[in-house]
Amino acid sequence: MKAVTVEPLVAGSVRYEEVPEPDEGSGSILVEAVAAGVCGTDVEIASGAYGWAPPGRERLILGHESLGRVLDPGPEGSLQPGDLIVGIVRRPDPVPCPNCAVGEWDMCRNGRYTERGIKEIDGFMSERWRIEPGYFMKVDPSLGLLGVLLEPTTVVAKAWELLGAMRARAFWQPRKILVTGAGPIGMLAALVGVQWRFDVTVMDRATEGAKPQMVRDLGATFTNGAIGDLGFKPDAVIECTGAGPVIIDAVRNVAAGGVVCLTGVGSGGVSSGLSVADVGRDLVLQNNVILGSVNANRRHFYRAAEALAAADRSWLDRLITRRVTPAHIADALERGPGDIKVVLDFEA
Ligand SMILES: [Zn+2]
Repeated sequence: MKAVTVEPLVAGSVRYEEVPEPDEGSGSILVEAVAAGVCGTDVEIASGAYGWAPPGRERLILGHESLGRVLDPGPEGSLQPGDLIVGIVRRPDPVPCPNCAVGEWDMCRNGRYTERGIKEIDGFMSERWRIEPGYFMKVDPSLGLLGVLLEPTTVVAKAWELLGAMRARAFWQPRKILVTGAGPIGMLAALVGVQWRFDVTVMDRATEGAKPQMVRDLGATFTNGAIGDLGFKPDAVIECTGAGPVIIDAVRNVAAGGVVCLTGVGSGGVSSGLSVADVGRDLVLQNNVILGSVNANRRHFYRAAEALAAADRSWLDRLITRRVTPAHIADALERGPGDIKVVLDFEA
C-alpha cells in the first residue's frame, strides 16, 4: 500500500511511497482510509521542526486527523464492516502516570505518551491502517467525508469542557465568549459555542474571503481589530492564534473572574514591553485564569462526534476549502490564502 511518510527533523523529507501493510500488532481493527486532515502540526513535522519516528525506524507515517471505513472489525463487537471511524491520537505512557492510568492521557504528567502520526507511532495518512479496540470513535454515517473534522473538534470540545470546569471555582455565568483566530480550530470553537447557546464573537485579521460570512452564518459575530475595542469585556476567551500580542490582549481585556483558554501554539515574537508583574497584578486583582489546553481523551472524542452530528452539513463542508489526493501531499502542506482546512482525499 502507499502512505505519506516523513523522516522527522529532516526538512523536505515527505514522500508518498510504498510501505508494508499495517502490522497486525498495531490493532485488531482494519480500516481503509477515506480522508486525512492536514494541520499546522503536520506542516511543522514536514518542515523538520518536530516529530519522532517509531523506535528503530527512520521514517514515520504522517497524519493524526483521520477518517476511515472499517474493512474488518476483528473481535470488536460494536463495529460492522463499512462503519466510519476516527482514530484517537494519543496513547498512554507505559508507566503509567496517574492521569494516563485513568484514561486522561491528554493530561499526561510525565510526557512519555505516544501519538499517532506525531510521536513514535505511525499515523493515518496510509491507504489502510489498523486501530486497537477502545481507541476509535464512530462517526455519524451521514457526515461522510466531513467526519475528518472530528479530531480538530476534539480540541475545542476539551477547551469548552475546561471552561465549564471553571464554574466549580466560583459563581460564574459566562455569556459572552470571544474566539480569537478564525482558522479551523477557531471556527469549530465557535460552532460548539453557538451549539451550547453562548453569545460568541470571533475575531480574526481576515476582512474578505469566506470566514466573516461563515461566522455570521453560525449566528455568531465576526470582528477585526483589538479586544480592547470590542465594547465589552468577554467572560472567556478561547485563544486559537498562538500569537503573543493576541494572547496579551486577551489576558488584559477578559472580564473580572474570566478565563483565557489558550489552544494555539506559537513561538518567539517580540516582547510587548509589558511588565510580568503588572500582568500578574491584573490577574490577581480580577481573579482571572489563564489555562492551556492540548490533545483530547475519549470523552472529548465522544463530545466532538456529538457536535459534528448536530452541525449543519453545508457549513462544515465550507470549512474544507481544499481536497487533495495523497500523491499531492506537498501541495496540501502549502497554505493557500483562502484555506481553512485542507484534507487528503483517499477516494478521489
Ligand atoms: Zn501519562
